[in-house]
Order: sequence, then structure tokens, then C-alpha cells
Amino acid sequence: MQIRVLNPCSVLLFVTALTVFGSRAVPAQSAATPTPAHSPVPAPPPFFGVPIPDSRTLGPWMDQSLSPEDRADLVLKQLTLDEKIALLHGNGMPHTPNWQMPLTDLANGGAGYVEGVKRLGIPALVMSDAAYGVRDSGVNGRYSTALPSSLGAASSWDIESACAYGTVIGSELRAQGFNMTLGGGVDLAREPRDGRTFEYAGEDPLLAGTIVGNLMKCEQAQHVVGDIKHYAMNDQETGRNFVNAIISKRGMQESDLLAFHIGISIADPAAVMCGYNRVNGDYNCENSYLLHDVLKGQWGFKGFVDSDWGGTHSTEKASAAGLDQEQPMGNHFGPKLREAVDAGRVPLSEIDDHARRVLYAEFLSGIVDDPPQKGVVDVQKGLDVAQHVEENSIVLLKNRNAILPILSARVHTIAIIGGHADVGMISGGGSAQVDPPGGNAILPPGQGATHWQEHIWFPTSPLEALREKLPHTKITFDSGADPASAAKLAHTSDIAIVFAYQWESEGMDLPNLSLPDNQDALIEQVAAANPHTIVVLETGTAVIMPWLDKVSGVVETWFAGSSGHKALANVLVGDVNPSGKLAISFPKSVDDLPHPVIPPLPPHIRAHGADPVNPDTPTATYSVTYTEGAEVGYKWYQTEHKTPLFPFGFGLSYTTFAYSGLTVDSAARTARFTVRNTGTRAGTEVAQVYATLPKGSDESWQRLAGFARIALAPGKSQTVTVPIDPRVLQTFREADESWNLAAGAYKILVGPSSANTPLTGSLLIH
Ligand code: BGC
Repeated sequence: MQIRVLNPCSVLLFVTALTVFGSRAVPAQSAATPTPAHSPVPAPPPFFGVPIPDSRTLGPWMDQSLSPEDRADLVLKQLTLDEKIALLHGNGMPHTPNWQMPLTDLANGGAGYVEGVKRLGIPALVMSDAAYGVRDSGVNGRYSTALPSSLGAASSWDIESACAYGTVIGSELRAQGFNMTLGGGVDLAREPRDGRTFEYAGEDPLLAGTIVGNLMKCEQAQHVVGDIKHYAMNDQETGRNFVNAIISKRGMQESDLLAFHIGISIADPAAVMCGYNRVNGDYNCENSYLLHDVLKGQWGFKGFVDSDWGGTHSTEKASAAGLDQEQPMGNHFGPKLREAVDAGRVPLSEIDDHARRVLYAEFLSGIVDDPPQKGVVDVQKGLDVAQHVEENSIVLLKNRNAILPILSARVHTIAIIGGHADVGMISGGGSAQVDPPGGNAILPPGQGATHWQEHIWFPTSPLEALREKLPHTKITFDSGADPASAAKLAHTSDIAIVFAYQWESEGMDLPNLSLPDNQDALIEQVAAANPHTIVVLETGTAVIMPWLDKVSGVVETWFAGSSGHKALANVLVGDVNPSGKLAISFPKSVDDLPHPVIPPLPPHIRAHGADPVNPDTPTATYSVTYTEGAEVGYKWYQTEHKTPLFPFGFGLSYTTFAYSGLTVDSAARTARFTVRNTGTRAGTEVAQVYATLPKGSDESWQRLAGFARIALAPGKSQTVTVPIDPRVLQTFREADESWNLAAGAYKILVGPSSANTPLTGSLLIH
């Protein structure tokens, strides 16, 4: 039983951490990381009727040597009030009966459409969801690559992978005729049962912000308007359209907001989407503290804020708070906004600020100078990148007696059990859903389009991929429907591999973190029949494993994307040495979470439904109080002295690594140490640098302060220098909204996971 809520719409060396703010220089960026510079391009054909950009015929704002700010100002001076207001609201959502407007059909089958200013060469915004690939390709008769889920990508701890991920999505959006993405989820996995955990990048602000920031930077470099979402504290789906997240300012500034700030600092996205929920009383999209004070004030964000779909609740209040654009309709920012301006309730300066931001975003992202041209999606490139990212994202959690990799000389028979592994691998749902070619692998083929909250298996069969890799091994499949028959097959096989899934989607939360559909019992029975049992997990979040002691191996693949089966087969046979590390802690039990249960919706709300666009919804009473503040994930377990099943940052390899020689340079604020590959296989280690605040601070947990991904041949070692950005160590003072870097000795801990840090040192801050 899942808790459902109504949805309103249908290098290898990389040293990180770096430098996550302002004048940061992200080190070791390879040539694969494009810079969002816009070189002049040959005149393309008109985009959605907007003429070829040409400063001679259109105006001085087409001069590409001017800054996006100056160009936006030049255009703004030309606009009528109605033209400005047209930039500030959507025009409906295709394929959604409740959200139709006269211009909806111009949305190219995407999620939204905002009019441009044709006479001045300012293109319309044509938007698509694109969390792990471009959405709605099926219903539009197109093709999109599914990358691994964002949580998977975060488990690679690899900015090269993140960049490649964003590049594929950006180029596929353009090929399909879109110039704005709605991807880039960076809310923290504070509540691991959140149905959107797979769309986010884990529980640590530095890791999540770095991965999503680099992903979005490279996506926007393709010349699409980049969007980072859902700002902020959008950490659960239960009652999401009205839930009031109550949290101290310090708590949110040092956790979820920090992830946003890091991501925004790296990506410089043209847009930020405010979420559905409320924070400390006010809806996100009319929350003056979040929008005006923090995002635009403290962080100096210059792009525009668009509301989540149906997440705008007022005109004057939202406009004054800093919402720039209502989506997907113009209920509050259409005629009502015009009326409010005419009546003097909304000053013109506010309208100018909103419109200038939208124009700035268009120039910044390159969509004015280089509008997309529809074309054929580079399918092969997408598949190759999806495979590469997944190979870096898979986390090996258990490997008793080196059961993995499978050696064909030793293993002659394999039982593959459950999870529809004969036909495919599961994907994440909701507005993130990418449509698989041929439709759902577990339904009759041929259904290209998917439906809201359908459980979709991609036609990526691990069984077939493994048979290709091991042609001389007898590999037999059992669906697992009858655990006794599966156990029988396992008993007569050298090894058994059970495929287990946990589907997740926007619009619902998981009731717990246990595998559904009796899969725990299946695993228990198979493991009882054959101790050489390996469990392959396809999940969007952490999982409880009551059977862990009884199995020999556990491999986490997340939602593995269009080439997940190939990546997995490569890992299982050892052609790829796993290097992923958990971006989210796996608890032993939900009782160990800060909130053992998600507060249930009061009956009167459940009875009424939870429609965000229904003004009568009685929502005032539902809230969730994040008493844990910034103690998210591993920080919580450390403070509470609870040992998780698998800690944040954990992941095994087929080789072993040794750490030595830590030197902390307090002046340069770096940690320098050596990692050696002590095994017999080449492998990549993600080395992690943590810090604890000086004595006298009120916290005891570690903060991730940097990390390095290091590829090493057997027997080789490398000394790396990881910058420790002091701003990650700061504490937020509520009284004057300031950040404070305490003087004193910070303990520096270095090692392969948050729970295993063999090297320690000290960073002195004066
Ligand atoms: C989701 C957003 C999405 C939008 C448009 C909303 O329900 O929360 O993430 O971008 O729909 O599909």
C-alpha cells in the first residue's frame, strides 16, 4: 500500500568541493565540460515564428557583445505593459484537460509555453520536464534517452558524469524543439520515503549541489534555459500542495538551502522553480523570505522564478515576494496582474523586474542567439552516456567471499529470479517519467506513451545482457511469483541473482523503506536454498534489508536508465569495477529516521482531496516539523549514535585501497593525502574529506567538505590535494542572517565513507 496524494498534472581525478560559491574555480574540469559561452552562429530558421536574430533588423539588443543584463534592459524599454505581463505566465499544459488555454497547442507537446515578443526577436519559452530525460516523448511520437536517476548520478560523485548527463538532456531537448528544461531537482533526501527521492541528489548539500550544479551547467550550455527546483524544503509528497514545512532558518540554511545555493552557484541557471509546499507558513511561491530575502537578496540570483505547476496562490503577495512567472496558467499573473497594476496595487517597477529577469534568462542561456532546431536525437550517444553514468553510479554494497565478479570458469549455472529481469528494469514515475521505446516491457509491446503513475519497466533485460556476457554459462529465469519454485531453481544453480525493485513516483510517498510485493520473503527463501545469492536492487531510495546476513552479495543499481542492463552486466562479470558510493544513508529500520512515520493527512483533508488548484481545499492544518534541522541523513545518525545499515559514502570495489599521509594545510585550506590501490584490479576510489566544527560548537556531526575521484591501476598510488571550502563549514546566525566561520581547530577526517575515516588531521582557522 502506497500513500498517494493527488497530482495536479498529469578523469578520472576530480578533486572537488571545492569552490562552490562565487569566484570558485572548479578544478580538474575536463574538456568534456563545456563553458556556456555563446559564439555567433549562422542564422537559423525562425523558431516558433520568431525571426532570425539580427541586430540590423531587430535592434541593438541582438548585439551579442553586450551583456545579458544590458540586452534585457534594451528590450524592456521597447515593451508594452501587456507584452511584459505576457512574459510572466504560462499558457496551459498540453495533454492536461484542466489546463488548456488558447495558445496551449504551441507548447510542442511539452509542459508549458510562455509567449515571447515576436516583433523584437524574443522567442517563446517552450518547456519540457527533463529530470532524467525528456518527458512525454511517447505521446509526441519522439524518442528520448533515460539517464540513470539523479540519485544514481549523485552516487557516482563524478562531475564528468554529471556534465555528460546534462549535455545529453540539453541536446535532446533542443532536437525535440524545446528551449527550456524543468529538470534539476536538488532538495535534500531528508525524508527518504519521499516519492521523489530518485529525482534528487541525496542527503548532503555539498554532494547534491555539486552534482546538480554541474549537470545543469552543462545542460544550459546546450542553449536551453536551465531550471533548478523545487525551491525549497519540498522534501515529501504527502500533502505536498499545502504541507507547511516548519524548520528553523538555521536548519534550512545549513541543509536544503545550502544545496540550492551550491547548485545555483555552479550552474548559474537562468531559472529556479519554487515548489508547491509552504515553509514556515507561506507557500513557497509567495514566500518573501525564500524568494526575496534569500534567493534574490542573499544569493544575488539574477534569473527568474517560475512556480511549480499550479503552485501560485496569489497575485500581489506572490509578485511582491519575488515570484516572476506563474505556471502553467495565467490565473494570478495574467489579467489579474494587469488589473492590480492598473489599480496601483502592484507597482510597475515590480513588473519590470519580473520581465527583465525573464529576458535576462533568455539572453543568458543563449536561446535568443541560438534557437533550437528540431532534428534527430543522437540515440547512440544517449545510450553510451547513460551506460557510462550508470557504470559509475552502481554501488556494490556487499561481496562476501568475493562472490562477485562472476567468473565463468567457476560458475556454470545461474538462476536469475524476479523483478521482471527477463524483460527489463524499472524506472521512476511522475513528471520525471521518460517513455521507453516500445512501451512498458511488462505490458503488451507497442504502447509508446506512458500514463501517470504507471509502473514502467524499460525494455532493458539484464537476463539477456548477462547471457551475452556469459555465453557458456547456463542462465535460467524464474519470475519469483512462486518463491518455492524460485528456491528450487536456486538450489540447483551455482549462484542465484534475485532482482528486487521499489517503484517510486511524484505524487506519493512510500509507506516505509521495505521492498514491496513480498520480495523480502522471496529473497529469504532463495537465500535459504542457496547461500550464493546476490540481490540486485532497482530502487529510488534507501531500502531496509532484513535478509542481509543471509545473502552473499548486494548491488544497488538505482533506476538504471536506457542502458542499465549493459552497465549492470559489465559490473557483474567484472568488465567494470564498481566505484559508486551511497549518496544517501540506508537505515536499519524506519524507526531510526528523524520521523519514524510521515505525519498522516488529517481525515478532513483526505476526504476532501488535496487539489492545489481547488481554492476550497482545507489545508491549513497539515504541517511537518523538521526538528532535526540541518541534521539530515548521516548527520542525524551520527548525532543520535545510530549505526545505519550502510552509511553515506559507502561502496565497495573489486579491489582495495589504502589511505596514508594526511597533511592539512590550514593556510591553503586543503587536505593532501595518498591513496593506493592495494589489490589486483584497476579501480576508482571516491575519497571523502569530512570536518567537524571546533570545540564549543553545538554540533557533533561531520560535514562533507570535499571529495576526490581517483582512478588507480593495481599497485599504484596517487597523492591528491582536496580543497576544503571554508564556507561549507560555516554556521548561520539567525539574528542577523549572517554566516560565521568559527575560529578554532576543525577535525579533518579522510577515508572511504562517512563511517570509515582512517586519516585524521586538524584545520586551524584564526
Ligand atoms: C512537478 C514539477 C514539474 C511540473 C510540470 C509538477 O507536478 O512538481 O516538477 O516540472 O509538474 O510537469
